Amino acid sequence: MSDLPTTARVVIIGGGAVGTSTLYHLAKEGWTDCVLLEKNELTAGSTWHAAGNCPNFSGSWAVMNMQRYGLEMYRSLADDVGYPMNYHVTGSLRLAHSKERMQEFERVAGMGRYQGMDMPILTPQEMQEYHPFMEVHELEGGMWDPLDGDIDPAQLTQAMAKGARDLGARIERFCPATGIERDGDEWIVKTDKGDIRCDFVANCAGYYAQRVGEMFKPFGGRTVPMVVMSHQYFLTEEIDEIAAWTKEKGHKLPIIRDVDISYYLRQDKNGLNLGPYERNCKAHWITPEDPMPEDFSFQLYPDDLERLEFYIEDAMARVPALGTAGVGRNINGPIPYAPDGLPLIGPMPGVKNAFEGHCFTFGIAQGGGAGKVLSEWIMHGETEWDMWATDPRRYTDYADHDYCLNKALETYGHEYAMHFGHHEWPAGRDKKLSPVDARIRAAGGVMGAYNGWERANWFAKPGDDTSEDATHTWDRQGPWTQRVKEEVEAVTGGVGVLDLPGFSRFNLSGAGAAEWLRGMIAGGLPKVGRMNLGYFPDSRGRILTEMSLIRHEEDHFTLISAATAQWHDFELLDNARPEGLTLSDHTTQYSTLIVSGPQSRALFGGIASDVDLSLGWLTHQTARIAGRDCAMLRVSFAGELGWEVHAANADIPAIYDAVMAAGATPFGMYALNSMRIEKGYRAWKGDLSTDYTLFEGGLDRFVKLDKPQDFPGKAALQNEKQQGPKKRFVILLVDAGDQDAPYMSTIWSGDTVVGETTSGDWGYRINASVALGVVRTDLAEPGTALEVEMYGKRYKATVQPDQPLWDPSNERLRA
Ligand SMILES: Cc1cc2nc3c(=O)[nH]c(=O)nc-3n(C[C@H](O)[C@H](O)[C@H](O)COP(=O)(O)OP(=O)(O)OC[C@H]3O[C@@H](n4cnc5c(N)ncnc54)[C@H](O)[C@@H]3O)c2cc1C
Repeated sequence: MSDLPTTARVVIIGGGAVGTSTLYHLAKEGWTDCVLLEKNELTAGSTWHAAGNCPNFSGSWAVMNMQRYGLEMYRSLADDVGYPMNYHVTGSLRLAHSKERMQEFERVAGMGRYQGMDMPILTPQEMQEYHPFMEVHELEGGMWDPLDGDIDPAQLTQAMAKGARDLGARIERFCPATGIERDGDEWIVKTDKGDIRCDFVANCAGYYAQRVGEMFKPFGGRTVPMVVMSHQYFLTEEIDEIAAWTKEKGHKLPIIRDVDISYYLRQDKNGLNLGPYERNCKAHWITPEDPMPEDFSFQLYPDDLERLEFYIEDAMARVPALGTAGVGRNINGPIPYAPDGLPLIGPMPGVKNAFEGHCFTFGIAQGGGAGKVLSEWIMHGETEWDMWATDPRRYTDYADHDYCLNKALETYGHEYAMHFGHHEWPAGRDKKLSPVDARIRAAGGVMGAYNGWERANWFAKPGDDTSEDATHTWDRQGPWTQRVKEEVEAVTGGVGVLDLPGFSRFNLSGAGAAEWLRGMIAGGLPKVGRMNLGYFPDSRGRILTEMSLIRHEEDHFTLISAATAQWHDFELLDNARPEGLTLSDHTTQYSTLIVSGPQSRALFGGIASDVDLSLGWLTHQTARIAGRDCAMLRVSFAGELGWEVHAANADIPAIYDAVMAAGATPFGMYALNSMRIEKGYRAWKGDLSTDYTLFEGGLDRFVKLDKPQDFPGKAALQNEKQQGPKKRFVILLVDAGDQDAPYMSTIWSGDTVVGETTSGDWGYRINASVALGVVRTDLAEPGTALEVEMYGKRYKATVQPDQPLWDPSNERLRA
C-alpha cells in the first residue's frame, strides 16, 4: 500500500529545478502541506552537467529581479539546507562585435548600476587579462558580468528538495500525475499510487508541460504555447595549458559569451564546453511522425555535429586552445521554448486555482527565483515584482502551433540578439488582421505585431527604406523619423486616422453590475452616456490594470483595455464576478478607428448621421457612418479633438473608406506613442505596472478613498496616503542626444540612483525628448534637475509640472 497523502494544499507536477524550488519556497513560508510528484528521478531534466547564470538581457525587470534573487539564494543554499554543492562563480565576458552591441552593454551596465551591480565595460585588451587564452580580433570591446558561473544542476535540485523535505513538504518520486479531475473547489490529481485532493495545482513539467497541460483542457485550459528545441554542447578532453593555468590561479576561467556569433564557451573541469545557439536550429516532437515519448528522462538526442561546425570554427579562432583538444562528449538535449524564449510563470489561463512554471530555457539559472515567484502566485495571487514578462496570459489564442514553432526557431537562433526599439521580428506574423489590413498596407503601412494583431507602426512613402537592417539601431533617427513627424503634423494640423484592431473589449451587465464594479476600482464610475478610466488595484494598492469604462445603462458597461491585456483583464473580472452578472469577450468581433485632429468634427459633420457632434469630452453615443452602425467615443489618446469609432468588423471597411475620402491622413503607432507621451498618458505594463502603487504612479485623481465601497488595496492606499508615497511619477524633459530614454533607464541625482524611466520618446509637437518615470518623492518637484542614463551616458533632465507638456489645460481635447 502506498503512503501517498490523500490530501494536500498544493500538488506540484514535476521535480526539476523549478518544481523543487517552488516546493522549497512554499515550505519556507509555512505551506508544508504540499506534495511534489515526479515521474522519474528528481533530476531527470538535468542530464547535462552545466548551468550558467546568464543575466537577463530581455529588457525586463521581471527576469532580472528573478535571476538576481536566484543567484543570491544559490550562494547560501548549501549552508542553508546542509547540502554541499559545486557552484563556481567564474564571471563571464560578453563580447561585442559592433557599436550597437557596445551600446547594449552600456545599457545593461546601467541597469546593473540601478540594482547595485557593477558590470564594467572592458576593452579587448582588458578582457584578455581575465581570459589569457582568448584572441581579440574583430572585437569592439566587451562587458564583465561578475555573477555568471556554473552550478551542478542535479545537486542544486537535490539541495532544494532537501530543504523542502526538512521543512515537512513531501516529494513522491517515480509517481507521475496521470490525470486531473475536479470536485467542487477541489482538484483531484490522479496517480498510479492513488489520488490526492488539493486546493491548488502547479504544472512544472518542463519540456513535458504541454502534455501535462492537456489534462487541464476539460476545465478551461488551452494548449500550452511551446515547442521543444534541441540544444547541443560538446565537451573537449583535458587541455594541458588550461589545467596548468587553473592550478596556478586556483580558479576557473570565466565563461565567454560571444553574443554576436551566438555561443557560450566555458571551462568544464580542465577542458572546454562549447554551446552554440545555432541559426540552423532544430525543433523535435513537432509532427505525428515524430511523437514525444512517454518518458525521455536521462536521455539525449543523437549528435548533430554538422549544425555546430560554423560555431566550432569561430570559437577555435577565438580560443585556439579549443582546437588542440579532442572532442570528449557531445550532449544534445531537449529544451522548452515559449515563443519569446521567456518562461511561463503564473496563473494558468482559463483555469482557476491552477498555475504553471515551465518553458525555461535557463531553468537552472532562473529556478531559484522562479520558485519564489510561483510560490507567491499560489499563496497570495500576486507577486512582489511585476512579472508580466513571464505571465502565461501574455499569449492568447493567436499562439497556435505554427506560431510557436516559427517563433521558437527564430528566438532560439537569436537567443543573444539585440532587441532594438524599432525592430519587429519577422516570424509568426499576420496572425490577426484588421478588417482594413490590405488598405493599410497599400497605403505604405510598416507593420508591427500587438497581441498577434498587425498594426501600422508608420507609413512609408515610395523609396523609404523599410528593411529590417534599417531598424538595427538604438537611435531615434531612422527611415521612419520624417514620416512620423509628418503623421503627427497631419493629426495636429488637420485630421488623422489610426486603424487600431485588437482592443480588449468586454461587456458587463446584470443587476448590481455597477455596485460590483465600484468595489473593483479605486475611483468612480461614469454616469450613463459617459465614460472614464478605471484603475484596478491589487491588495497592496498597486496598479493591476486600467480599463476604459463605458456606461450604456445603470448596470450595463463596455470595458476596453490594451490588446495585450485581453486574457489578463478578462480573468481579473471573471474570477471576481458574482453569480448573476454576465461578462462576455467581444475582442475579435469589433474594431476601432482613432480619428483625431482639429478637423475631425468637420470631417464627421460631412459623413456621420444620427449623431450629436457637440457632445463633450468623455461622452459616447451611437451613430451612422457610410450607412453603417458604429459607436463614437469622444476621447483621444493623441491629445487632440477626436473620436474613437468602434464598429463591427464587417462595417469597418466602409467607415474607413468614408473617413479617408473625407480627407483623413493615416497615422501609425509610432506617431500615437509620441503624442501620448507628450500628454503624459501612461501605457500598460510600461508605465502602469504592479511595481507601482496608484499613488506612486501619479494616479491620485483616480483614487477615491472616501467612497463607501471597499475595494482591493483600499487599506494599503489609505495607509500610504498618511505616510506619503516613497516614489512619485514624473514627466521629464530630457536634454537627450541621438536616443530617447528607453524603458528601465536609470535616473540619477548627483551620484545617487533615484529612480527609473518607464517609457520615453521624442515629442514631435513640442520638439523635445520626453521620459516618463518614477523618482524619489522629494525629487518629484517641478524644476528639479536630474540626469537620465542612456547607453552609458548621462543626460540632463528636468522634472515638469504634473500636467501635459502639450496643451496643458486640454483645450484642444475639449474643443
Ligand atoms: C544541453 C542543455 C544545456 C543546458 N544548459 C543550461 C544552462 O547552462 N543554464 C541553464 O540555466 N539552463 C540550461 N539548460 C536548460 C535547463 O536544463 C532547463 O531550463 C531546466 O532543466 C528546466 O527545469 P524545469 O524544472 O522547468 O524542468 P525539468 O528539469 O524538465 O523538470 C520537469 C520534470 O517534470 C517531470 N514530469 C513530466 N511529466 C510529469 C508528470 N506527468 N508527472 C510527474 N512529473 C512529470 C519530468 O520527469 C521532469 O523531471 C540546458 C538544457 C540543455 C538541454
